[in-house]
Amino acid sequence: MAKLAVGFTGTIRQNAPMQEYTSWRIGGPADWLVEPGNSDEVRQVLDFCAANETPLTIIGRGSNLLVSDAGIAGLVLRIGENFGRVEIEPQDDTYLVRAECGVLLAALSRQTAEAGVGGLEWACGIPGNLGGALMMNAGAYGASIGEFVTAVQVAAYTGAEKRKAVLQTLRGADLHFAYRSGCLPEHTVALGVALRLPTGNREASLARISDILSSRRQNQPLEYPSAGSVFRNPPGSHAGYLIEQSGCKGLTVGGAQVSEKHGNFIINLGGATAADVLCLIEQVRQTVAEKTGYTLETEVRLLGRQN
Ligand SMILES: Cc1cc2nc3c(=O)[nH]c(=O)nc-3n(C[C@H](O)[C@H](O)[C@H](O)COP(=O)(O)OP(=O)(O)OC[C@H]3O[C@@H](n4cnc5c(N)ncnc54)[C@H](O)[C@@H]3O)c2cc1C
Repeated sequence: MAKLAVGFTGTIRQNAPMQEYTSWRIGGPADWLVEPGNSDEVRQVLDFCAANETPLTIIGRGSNLLVSDAGIAGLVLRIGENFGRVEIEPQDDTYLVRAECGVLLAALSRQTAEAGVGGLEWACGIPGNLGGALMMNAGAYGASIGEFVTAVQVAAYTGAEKRKAVLQTLRGADLHFAYRSGCLPEHTVALGVALRLPTGNREASLARISDILSSRRQNQPLEYPSAGSVFRNPPGSHAGYLIEQSGCKGLTVGGAQVSEKHGNFIINLGGATAADVLCLIEQVRQTVAEKTGYTLETEVRLLGRQN
């Protein structure tokens, strides 16, 4: 690790408590947490992991992650505040927006709306990064990020042995976005995204953002740490509705509770562990299967050592 640190402008932290890096405020320590300062340093980190056979985990703002209480072995590469540039360029009657992957989706939604650029109002209440949004194909109110992507800059391993990383640009048309599922191969780091967005109306977009935010405050338990929707919506139904119909709202294990306000949110009442949340996930899954016949799959990503 000392070798990687030479000339490194980003930060390197040993035994980093992952509860500080996740919206659920849950998770044991990562052996190493590295936040590169620029794209070339991301490439160096990938080379370092390959050369030292260090397990690599990529994260953004940690708003869709359940990290094990035993933490994460190896190196966690976080794309965050160091990747925050946004450029908005008018092109014919649309806009090309180039943004780095550490930009908060909610901030990008507001910034584009303020600039009279439409299309991203739906994203105003999603607390992840653009990179995390890309990897989850984040969406709300019938729209999702994949619809707007024209290109993605990545750091990715190349060659048959996958030991050397390069910076490259992928065309949006070659990426396959599906419901809440990632579009890049494992161990590929998204660095920047180009989005094609329509011309909007500043006042109308800001009014829509304000409506969406107040509806989310009303319907989601935003006063507690969570990871948003825990389960994916099964085809033809909604996980939140099925959970409510199955009587699971309010179920509690340790510090974790199925929200009374929104059945698909598991909230951290204080001191919840990953084991509490996993136990609750299993209870909900079983109850919903028994009562409705639907088998729910998790939308949140589970990371880290098995407890
Ligand atoms: C209150 C609340 C409300 C939410 N509402 C919504 C919603 O309406 N719609 C919705 O879709 N989601 C929602 N979410 C979930 C979450 O915010 C999104 O999935 C978000 O896009 C995740 O971004 P992140 O930066 O936090 O990614 P993380 O949680 O850190 O990571 C998610 C996945 O992306 C990968 N990843 C992250 N960054 C990169 C990168 N740069 N390169 C490669 N891989 C990367 C990680 O490996 C992981 O697999 C909500 C969450 C909360 C807490």
